[in-house]
Amino acid sequence: MSYDPDNIFAKILRGEIPCHKVYEDDATLAFMDVMPQVDGHTLVIPKAPSRNLLDADPAALGPLMVSVQKVANAVRKAFAAEGILIKQFNEPAAGQTVFHLHVHILPRSAGSELRPHSGKMADHALLARHAEMIRSALTA
Ligand code: 5GP
Repeated sequence: MSYDPDNIFAKILRGEIPCHKVYEDDATLAFMDVMPQVDGHTLVIPKAPSRNLLDADPAALGPLMVSVQKVANAVRKAFAAEGILIKQFNEPAAGQTVFHLHVHILPRSAGSELRPHSGKMADHALLARHAEMIRSALTA
């Protein structure tokens, strides 16, 4: 399977569709998942194109994980989470629905249930507020 440059995350990277951005550097971009499984559900993507982990340039993986760690710590702080769940799906059989490599960051605490994957669209004002909370935690 090849990379489709018109996938939704490629469009976000090109600025063709909006996102609630929390972090960006030369190699990566992090933004709120629009159908969050839990408040604070954030995605981190490399700027380099690949469908998923399996076809990614190994050189893109180090910078990606550095950003995942940075954003995960900020999400943990912003949402006072007891733990952080990291998820990453490869190909439809494994649950992947958007075909540009991405890593999910989900804050977890005892008693909070996860909502369904790719479930209900969140309110944009709420996502904007959550993005602001994470950006503040990144700079604190
Ligand atoms: P996957 O199943 O591919 O690992 O997850 C794709 C994720 O992207 C899902 O959690 C879904 O909610 C999220 N998503 C789908 N379309 C959009 C979009 O247009 N913008 C954002 N920010 N997230 C999206």
